Amino acid sequence: MTKNILISGASIAGPALAWWLHHHGIRATVVERSPSLREGGYKVDIRGVAVEAVRRMGLLEQVQAASTDMRGAAFVNKRGKQVATLDADTFGFRHGDDTEILRGDLAKILYDATREHTEYVFGDWVTGLDQRPDGVEVTFARGAPRRFDLVVGADGLHSGVRALAFGPEEDYLRRFDAYISISTVPNSFELDRWELLHSAAPGKMVNVYSTARADDAKAAFWFSAPPLPYDRRDVDGQKDLVADRFAGLGWEIPALLEAMRAADDFYFDPVCQIVMETLSAGRVTLLGDAGYCPSPASGQGTSLALAGAYVLAGELAASDDFATALARYEALMRPFIEKNQALAKTALRGIIPQSRAFAWFNTRMIRLMPYLPGRNRVLEQMSRPIREAANALELPDYRVSRPA
Ligand SMILES: Cc1cc2nc3c(=O)[nH]c(=O)nc-3n(C[C@H](O)[C@H](O)[C@H](O)COP(=O)(O)OP(=O)(O)OC[C@H]3O[C@@H](n4cnc5c(N)ncnc54)[C@H](O)[C@@H]3O)c2cc1C
Repeated sequence: MTKNILISGASIAGPALAWWLHHHGIRATVVERSPSLREGGYKVDIRGVAVEAVRRMGLLEQVQAASTDMRGAAFVNKRGKQVATLDADTFGFRHGDDTEILRGDLAKILYDATREHTEYVFGDWVTGLDQRPDGVEVTFARGAPRRFDLVVGADGLHSGVRALAFGPEEDYLRRFDAYISISTVPNSFELDRWELLHSAAPGKMVNVYSTARADDAKAAFWFSAPPLPYDRRDVDGQKDLVADRFAGLGWEIPALLEAMRAADDFYFDPVCQIVMETLSAGRVTLLGDAGYCPSPASGQGTSLALAGAYVLAGELAASDDFATALARYEALMRPFIEKNQALAKTALRGIIPQSRAFAWFNTRMIRLMPYLPGRNRVLEQMSRPIREAANALELPDYRVSRPA
């Protein structure tokens, strides 16, 4: 049986997997490149079967108590006038116990639930993987080499483990010709659990929100563009790139760009997916964004990571050999991953309208929504794809827990 596992990445997928491995009596070590747990971050959703996975961890109440508790969202025109509003759950396509939470708050809950029994190594990362018949020899940037039965890459879109075991990221990237940038900014709009969206120009969208218990706000800039050359380590260069794209546009965009320039948590990435032919290579496998990032446009990355952690740990506990477990993990996850990745393209068309006419039509539809005959049916139709994708996996009942 697989007894000793290395997990790379301590955000959502990594700590969730550590929780389930401990539950099944399997030892895990988590190595995280950041010097400490990365708190804060943008809001993410937990939907469908991922809610059930969190419920089975006994953490659902805690997660719900930490929710963003958003009240709603409004589309604003260039004069700042709110032209259409929606309540938060309708806007986020959430049903029942589906919950929205800041990524960092969820990471903290999962870390706190595992830190006592899981070895966490911060400020280090995997530099080499040497697969042997009986294990993997792992070398680290800082720590001494160690041997593990299995290595799991839960280290996100730009996974280091994936690069070592499968090759360059470019080979697995599905691009959508769009970029997103998010920064923490002052809450100058005095938003109270509220979000503003402004379709700045064709192919350019800005949104600002402030969540429960937050003194500040987040500003996101989305824009369409073919693949752009930029240096991933040059943050100022990336800020220039975003500022150039939104230069000369109305509403409060100049002030938001100024605030973005001053932010120390600036995030910038292409909107893209990771599409792998296979999730495992020998004793190395991938979990969460590292293996099947569905892109922020899908709104389902966190749910895939949580459900994937449940299935991977359960299969490892249920099989005596790791190869069978990894094959079953992949077979169960594959259709679920594909359904959720399929959401992104259409969702992105709504997030970044490509023409003024489409933006106008979108806003008009939302504005008229309360008065439309059959309003509930229309809303139900609109939210059906994400609801079906979020529930397109039956969580097996792994009753094979061994004492930890
Ligand atoms: C702007 C934005 C908005 C989003 N909005 C939503 C949303 O609305 N709904 C939703 O469900 N999802 C959303 N997501 C996606 C969601 O954040 C991810 O799908 C989710 O966090 C995946 O978790 P993960 O643990 O797989 O990866 P990540 O959260 O990316 O974590 C990877 C971890 O690995 C660490 N790491 C990286 N490289 C290494 C290395 N070489 N060695 C060791 N550690 C390493 C990182 O520091 C990080 O802690 C959004 C993502 C972004 C970027």
